[in-house]
Amino acid sequence: MNDRADQLAAQLARVEERIAAACAGAGRDRADVTLIVVTKTYPADDVRLLAGLGVRQVAENRDQEAAAKAEECAELPLSWHFVGQLQTNKVRSVVRYADHVHSVDRLRLVGALSGAATAAGRELGCLVQVALDAGSGERGERGGVAPDAVGAIADAIASAEGLRLDGVMTVAPLAGQYAGQPRAAFDRLVEISSGLRETHPAANMVSAGMSQDLEHAVAAGATHVRVGTAVLGVRPRLR
Ligand SMILES: *Cc1c(COP(=O)(O)O)cnc(C)c1O
Repeated sequence: MNDRADQLAAQLARVEERIAAACAGAGRDRADVTLIVVTKTYPADDVRLLAGLGVRQVAENRDQEAAAKAEECAELPLSWHFVGQLQTNKVRSVVRYADHVHSVDRLRLVGALSGAATAAGRELGCLVQVALDAGSGERGERGGVAPDAVGAIADAIASAEGLRLDGVMTVAPLAGQYAGQPRAAFDRLVEISSGLRETHPAANMVSAGMSQDLEHAVAAGATHVRVGTAVLGVRPRLR
């Protein structure tokens, strides 16, 4: 073990404790919450160390960085989640390594993902990104669709070849009625998820919660938390 491995082990253990405590506080089974470690801006060496510490789910938000890292880590037993805003011209690359895309927020992207996944002979898990600060017909500042557009995108994913509808994702909004109210935001996401599961019962992933607010997400019912900073450290650049 080197210093970095020790540091990652300690920080990962602290995050594990936080998730376990949040589950206990909410009366939830620890096994019902999956930790996804967001490795953006950190090198493949860190991903390798994390894999050695038992991490199996990692996330990235930029294709150029993610594609190279996933290739360097190809022999590791990892699932890759793409959580960033996604341009259609990056889709062909993303479907090569990603098992899940959490940021599906427009019909054109559904079509592009379907074409690329089918061409690559892969089935891609898709989550609809919900922008809780977006009004009807609007899109979120950081991607995502308004709550009233979730159904249409979900239906498109569910009927698209090569895609599987897995659930919904959000980032706690910095503006609007949910600004500074992560618990209320995540409660709303869980409500949207319940509505979605009336027509798509298998779409049970609820991806919410980051380093700062994972306890709120677990309390609200998130099934997947996406944690970067608390495991890897403060990123040198904001992305
Ligand atoms: C970076 C990022 C995270 C992790 O954020 P931290 O605050 O570093 O834990 C989670 N979700 C998305 C979509 C991100 O881009």
